[in-house]
Amino acid sequence: MQASQFRKLAAYLLQTHYGLDLDDTTLSEDYSTGVAQGDRVFLLINMLSNKYDLQRLDSKDNQPLSIFDEVKGLVAMNLTLVLGEQQTCCPLCGHRTNFTELDCTTQIHDCMNPSCENVFITQFDQETYQ
Ligand SMILES: [Zn+2]
Repeated sequence: MQASQFRKLAAYLLQTHYGLDLDDTTLSEDYSTGVAQGDRVFLLINMLSNKYDLQRLDSKDNQPLSIFDEVKGLVAMNLTLVLGEQQTCCPLCGHRTNFTELDCTTQIHDCMNPSCENVFITQFDQETYQ
């Protein structure tokens, strides 16, 4: 994930689900020192939540975040391209991607080119997150 995508997504998820500013946490620092790189943002926030016993604002049972929250955040923040069809390479650089299938219509792709690191989503059914 690109640094700008990471920062904006982490800020959005922290604010939306925990009412916290990114600067109130160690996430940004963890990312810039390389500690957090390679992990999904929602997993990092869940680790933070466990460590500091954070309470979710939007969930009484304090469920951890899921990859769907991450995808919704990426889409809501316009941080990523949402492509309407299956894609095997990065639309920015053409490099191969690693992808995670969320359900039968949605995949989240991470560009494997270390100088690109773009994250994008493919969604065959455009209605799902709108
Ligand atoms: Zn790329």
